[in-house]
Amino acid sequence: MDDTGRTPVVDLRLDRAHSARIYDYLLGGRTHFAADREAAGRILAAFPAAGAAARINRDFMARATRRLAHDGMVQFLDIGTGIPTSPNLHEVAQRIRPGARVVYTDNDPIVLTHAAALLRGRPEGRTAYVEADVTRPESVLGAPRLLATLDLTRPVALSLNALLHFIGDDGADRGHAVVEHLKGALAPGSTLTITHATADFTPAAMAEVGAVYARAGTPFRLRTEAEFRRLFDGWEFIGPGVTLSHRWCPDRPGDALRATSAEAACYAAVARKP
Ligand code: SAH
Repeated sequence: MDDTGRTPVVDLRLDRAHSARIYDYLLGGRTHFAADREAAGRILAAFPAAGAAARINRDFMARATRRLAHDGMVQFLDIGTGIPTSPNLHEVAQRIRPGARVVYTDNDPIVLTHAAALLRGRPEGRTAYVEADVTRPESVLGAPRLLATLDLTRPVALSLNALLHFIGDDGADRGHAVVEHLKGALAPGSTLTITHATADFTPAAMAEVGAVYARAGTPFRLRTEAEFRRLFDGWEFIGPGVTLSHRWCPDRPGDALRATSAEAACYAAVARKP
C-alpha cells in the first residue's frame, strides 16, 4: 500500500507505444491502446506485410514447440513471451506432453496483468510466469518461481522468439552476450529456438520500422543472416538450420510459398546443445 492507503497500480505507460502491444495489434489481438495503434499504423505503412509476418512468427513457434515435444522435451522456458494469444506455447507442448512444465517470462507489466491466461496449464503439467528483464539473464535463471518449476540440471527448451531485435547494443553485441549467458547455463540436450527480424531483404522498410520503435524508446537491432547464425555457435541445428520462419518444417509444402522472404522478414532456427 502507498501512503494514501491504496494499493499502488503498476504504471503501464499507456501513453507510449510498446512492442508487446504493437505486436498484439498486428496479430489482431485486443490488448493495445491509442499510442500502440498509431505506431502499428506507421509500421504497416512502411512494411505492409507486418501483420502476416507476426502470424508467420506465431505459427513457427507452434511448429517448433510440437517438434521439440515430439522429440521428448518436457521443460520449456519462453523469454519475451508477449501478451497471451492462442495457442500459447504451453497449450501446444502439453497437448503432446501433458506433464510438460513451462516457464514464461517478459519484462512488460501488461503481460503480467494477463499472466493468468498463461497459467491455465494441464493439471499434470505446470506453468509459471516470471517478470524479468532478459538483459539481466541471471535474474531470469535465478527466479525462485523458475527454479520451483524447472530443473536446470535437465534439458530445457529455451525460446527467444521475436525478442532479441528489441535488445539494443551497449558498445558490444548485447543480444549475443545474453544468448551466450543463457546457453552456458543450460544442460546438454537443451535446445535453443530463436526468431529474429532482419533487414536483409527490405533495408529501406526496416529502417522506417526502426524509426517508429526509436520514437517509442525501443531499440530495433536487426541482424544479418551471419549474425543470426552466430547466436547458435557450438550447438547443432535441428531441422533445416537457419531459414525464414515460414520455411522451417512447414506443415504443408505449399506453406513455404505463402510469403516471400521480404514479407516474412524473420530468420528462424532451432538447435540442440551437444
Ligand atoms: N515471443 C512472442 C512475443 C514477441 S513480442 C512471439 O514471438 O510471439 C516481443 C516481446 O518481448 C514483448 O512481449 C516484449 O515485452 C518482450 N521484451 C522486450 N524486451 C524485453 C526484455 N528486455 N526482457 C524481457 N522481455 C522483453
